[in-house]
Amino acid sequence: MIPASWLHDARRDLLANAGDRLALFTRGEGAYLWDDEGKRYLDFLAGIAVNSLGHAHPAFVEAVAAQAATLAHVSNYFATPPQLALAARLKRLAGTGESGRVYFSNSGAEANEAAFKLARLHGAPRDGAPGRPRILALTDAFHGRTMGTLALTGKPGMQEPFLPMVPGVEFLDSTIEALEAALDESVAALILEPIKGEAGVVPLPDGYLEAARELTRRHGALLILDEIQTGAGRTGEWFAFQHTGITPDAITVAKGIGGGFPIGALITYGEASELFYPGTHGSTFGGNALATAVAGAVLEEIESADLVTNARVRGAQVSEGILAIDSPLIAGCRGQGLLLGVALSRPVAKAVVAAAQEHGLVVNAANDDTIRIAPALTIGDVEIDEFLTLFAAALATVTDALLLDESSQPDDKEAAQ
Ligand SMILES: *Cc1c(COP(=O)(O)O)cnc(C)c1O
Repeated sequence: MIPASWLHDARRDLLANAGDRLALFTRGEGAYLWDDEGKRYLDFLAGIAVNSLGHAHPAFVEAVAAQAATLAHVSNYFATPPQLALAARLKRLAGTGESGRVYFSNSGAEANEAAFKLARLHGAPRDGAPGRPRILALTDAFHGRTMGTLALTGKPGMQEPFLPMVPGVEFLDSTIEALEAALDESVAALILEPIKGEAGVVPLPDGYLEAARELTRRHGALLILDEIQTGAGRTGEWFAFQHTGITPDAITVAKGIGGGFPIGALITYGEASELFYPGTHGSTFGGNALATAVAGAVLEEIESADLVTNARVRGAQVSEGILAIDSPLIAGCRGQGLLLGVALSRPVAKAVVAAAQEHGLVVNAANDDTIRIAPALTIGDVEIDEFLTLFAAALATVTDALLLDESSQPDDKEAAQ
């Protein structure tokens, strides 16, 4: 088959660091996307949990236009009103209290790079004390693609082409026993995702975050939570850790807080706020007026429209609807709020994604047997009903293809005998 001309261009002009692009999208509005041929899709991925307000939301559009026409960038030698307003808002939403601080980056990986440096500063030998050389992370977790965050990412296959890694990171199974065995006074920090998004929307065991808080506090290690995928209201709380009673030492955010504008942040609590000192970190673009004005407008809209509650309520509605679909492919539904992973009974996630796209639905294969669902936080009954219809149709398409395969196998054998 001759590839579409845009795919031809993409293969010719873009580095092959990722697989082929799946479509050429030209326009979006709310929960819908349109491709270059004018076909409409229901978007239940939202740019991987990024477009919190959907596409082209008036609050987003107006914030971009107004701030671009006022002041976009001045560098971090200077402060701007939107930057200070967003820092104060993030502190309030994350519940840091007065002592919290915010560092702005342009992406999730950069937020985690800052967190990595925070951990090193905490672990540095000082006043004759030996220091804390170890950083703990979880097997199968994802923290980014830069060299620092790749070193924190517990996926050997991703690391392998880029060895050697930044040293000092150890990976644990996601059990409280593994935590108890690993934590001592040589650990600077434990970093983890409250729900492992890239691993297939895999929650931590019950009580895990509470145990992690207890053990890190007891041994003087930082507890750093990567809320890049789970934050900004997506799980039905502003941040996923708020489903528990704990307070971390730092969280990282990105994806959903900008609603499509690239921005990330490291948010610190209490004493962890005192670790960075002048000259220890920085970013030219990080927290510029344009990015922070847009993120401020996105968070304001999430707050005033109570989309955090909507994420909780609609998430329950979506997962109930999924479990009610009569398909042998559905093995379960994990996650919280509007970050859901549909567990498939067979490793056919890519086929389901392709069939969904045929039917006009965008979802994602988090891995071979999980479909990730992360729509805009604005969705309601109309979008959910349409999603359930399209998703059921996609599953049926794949089931039919599998049955064909199965029924054709014996014939093939017979033919071979
Ligand atoms: C997406 C993601 C990152 C990396 O963010 P980028 O903006 O792609 O650099 C890190 N951690 C988690 C949990 C993520 O979901």
